[in-house]
Amino acid sequence: MAKRIEWIERELQNLKDAGLYNRIRTLSSPQGAWLIVDGRRALNFCSNNYLGLANHPRLRQAAQEAAQRYGIGPAAVRSIAGTMDLHLELERRMAAFKGVEAAITFQSGFTANLATIPALVGKDDVIISDELNHASIIDGSRLSGAQIIRYAHCDTSDLQRVLSENRGKFPRTLVITDGVFSMDGDIAPLDKIYEVVQNYEAVLMVDDAHGEGVIGRGGRGIVDHFDLHGKVDVEVGTMSKAFGVVGGVVAGNAMVVEWLRQRGRPFLFSSAMTVPDTAACLAAIDVLEESTELVDRLWENARYFKAEMRTMGFDTGKSVTPITPVMLGEAPLAQQFSRELFEQGVFAMALGFPTVPRGKARIRVMISASHEKSDLDQGLEAFRKVGKSLGVIS
Ligand SMILES: *Cc1c(COP(=O)(O)O)cnc(C)c1O
Repeated sequence: MAKRIEWIERELQNLKDAGLYNRIRTLSSPQGAWLIVDGRRALNFCSNNYLGLANHPRLRQAAQEAAQRYGIGPAAVRSIAGTMDLHLELERRMAAFKGVEAAITFQSGFTANLATIPALVGKDDVIISDELNHASIIDGSRLSGAQIIRYAHCDTSDLQRVLSENRGKFPRTLVITDGVFSMDGDIAPLDKIYEVVQNYEAVLMVDDAHGEGVIGRGGRGIVDHFDLHGKVDVEVGTMSKAFGVVGGVVAGNAMVVEWLRQRGRPFLFSSAMTVPDTAACLAAIDVLEESTELVDRLWENARYFKAEMRTMGFDTGKSVTPITPVMLGEAPLAQQFSRELFEQGVFAMALGFPTVPRGKARIRVMISASHEKSDLDQGLEAFRKVGKSLGVIS
């Protein structure tokens, strides 16, 4: 091995020794309640396909038809070679769906954060950020060069403390929170956060990646959930989770959106979503606007699964969403639990440090509208068996 990259071999070995090396399983089926995982049929408790849209016939058909009409790739960045009417249509429909003035799409939720944060604050400014915010918020914040101050998770009195200690010290202040926190399934108290923030000259931004298509009326997201229409300046979202496709979106104030078209670097220097992605997202909005059936089923499934798990004696933490953490404590136990579930035909991920704090390792079950009740019952039975054999429940 070339000497200049020997360090990488050592680091990879260190990851393996620490049990932190990612071994990624191979899927050879579409996303859905059941998957072919490493050649075996398994019940899917892992994906963010909340509504089962990732393999929905309407989305598949829309993607095919659009590919016939427009081809596949956008072939350049939108600001240089022109923008397809399809992308503009998605932005109009997204804004209408969410009840905001305007929306702009990006390649992913990750790039939406990398575009938005540095466009709103710079090196003289301050970002006040929930301590458990997503990695893409952290990276976007670092990229902006602004000073970053964290406040205690979902703690509005700590947020108030930080805001008042820093009042008048910076030209601009940006407060950022995740909407739904992906590891615990709790929801940011956005109504209370808004009340605190509006007493300061601060811009409020929420990243609703796990809320879009899940909370609010018919899946309209966290701003709708708390009835805060017109009050949250910037709503970042993703079409890679409940929407079942891929892509990011920023919705909100029309002037903020216009600014991102002029100054959002992943908009200016990276090509747009592909044609099939864009058309499939439009079809996802159609499905969501026509009926709340999928969102209702998602919640029915989540309520049923969580209640049964608690009755068996499992600790599902503080989740109030379909994200269901099964708290196990130490990482080796969580990993063994996940392996034994897989032996029972259930694919559910163990999460340990540094993804979650030490001593708070867990299995995270992602419930979907695509699960039938019989699927959930089968999953529950596997949890009961493994939980008993490992002494987690009695
Ligand atoms: C998943 C997630 C993202 C990234 O979304 P992608 O579209 O997959 O890039 C961003 N923010 C939060 C809070 C997320 O949970």
